[in-house]
Amino acid sequence: MTLTVLNPATEEPIAELEQAGVEDADAAVARAKAAFPVWSAVAPGDRARLLRRLAVLVEERSEELAQIESRNVGKPIAGARGEIGMVAQVFHFYAGAVDKHFGETIPVAGGVAATFREPLGVVGLIVPWNFPANIASWKLGPALACGNTIVLKPAELTPLSAIRLGELCLEAGIPEGVVNVLVGKGSVVGKRLIEHSDVAKIAFTGSTDVGRLVMQGAAGTIKRVTLELGGKSANVVFDDADLERAAAQAPYSVFDNAGQDCCARSRILVQKSVYDGFLDRLIEATRNVRVGDPSLEDTEMGPLISAEHRATVASYLDGVSIAFRGEAPESEGFWYPCTIVEATNDDRIAREEVFGPVVAVIPFEDEADAVRIANDTPYGLSGSIWTRDGSRALRVARGIEAGVLSVNANTSVRVQTPFGGFKQSGFGRELGMHALEGYSEVKSVFISTEG
Ligand code: NAD
Repeated sequence: MTLTVLNPATEEPIAELEQAGVEDADAAVARAKAAFPVWSAVAPGDRARLLRRLAVLVEERSEELAQIESRNVGKPIAGARGEIGMVAQVFHFYAGAVDKHFGETIPVAGGVAATFREPLGVVGLIVPWNFPANIASWKLGPALACGNTIVLKPAELTPLSAIRLGELCLEAGIPEGVVNVLVGKGSVVGKRLIEHSDVAKIAFTGSTDVGRLVMQGAAGTIKRVTLELGGKSANVVFDDADLERAAAQAPYSVFDNAGQDCCARSRILVQKSVYDGFLDRLIEATRNVRVGDPSLEDTEMGPLISAEHRATVASYLDGVSIAFRGEAPESEGFWYPCTIVEATNDDRIAREEVFGPVVAVIPFEDEADAVRIANDTPYGLSGSIWTRDGSRALRVARGIEAGVLSVNANTSVRVQTPFGGFKQSGFGRELGMHALEGYSEVKSVFISTEG
């Protein structure tokens, strides 16, 4: 069956692809399995050189990759360029990490124990549609660095950059069969990878609901899993913060990528004493977000990914108290305006991941109340804290149950630092040296010194 890939900003088809079925998934796993002895035996220095070459190729083709990503996801081109820049950085980082991740020697009675970091084998990488190239690279980099071979399954809506990355892997000289890209339905080929006995691990990024299916499916073969799932993160604004800066930046912490961001700070918690003034400032700043044609250099927000997703986002707005609704093009494309809602933390809009340009503003009394509300969610991915009091910033950061926080800043995602969730936002860490733990097993070998 063919798959028609659309540009969400125009609704025009941009590619027709053949979809893989279960037999293709099996063939991809077989190729990856056959390539494993070859790739895992490549000397670390040589693996590093190949990853470095891949990073340089991504840099050289960055404009082409950014254009693909912008057209396929509807991302503003400036943001897409930034994301592809991060893809190159990720491959550079893991090229550097290949030969710095190794075991130890441990003195024990009667001899010594040596530990080794062994690759897992074939790993299945299942990624979502919101940051397709970026999230693929977060998994490809450490998986390849550790000597694993790969079946990468992009989302059905956005497979184009993954296909191009697969080609660049070959061009870089990574042997055939090491990276296999499988375009197909999650419920068919994704499911097959999860249940396949020759797949050692699934690294999944996507919704919490599908994450549950991944855990269930992996149980049959005791497969390793890491899960990067949904979020409902809080942007906590105290009355002693630089309110002008906090309000100016807040729209970009939730409306970037049209709110289709697992780290979106989709709840803004504001101390009651400054609530009204902050809301006014937030509305003014949101009015300035430039929504429109993603191919234009100064566009800041594009469309949603699909008509179906737009209908889901819209369904969250029934019966809520809307404080502001921005403008969006009325032409073809899955447009949705920036929307600010006043809410309590018990409202549906404050509890579920809307995954669109919609933010719930919620008042709080004091520090304890802020931490309580921030944590009153099944998720625990991200969040921001705005205050001029350094001790409070640290106390609140320690108090919030989330994996990735920022103080007086919108984002905390860096190539060098661990990324991942608490609670139902998943487990396992990507990026930084921590990611290597998820793509290797520790083996301990005791060597007797007696006799
Ligand atoms: P999704 O869960 O619908 O799909 C993710 C991937 O899983 C896709 O490749 C899809 O084809 C595949 N899939 C779907 N059903 C499957 C099944 N039964 N078996 C195996 N694979 C299956 O998510 P999405 O709509 O593509 O992405 C949005 C979600 O991803 C949001 O919840 C967002 O928060 C989350 N996300 C999380 C992170 C993170 O790092 N925590 C990053 C980006 C997105």
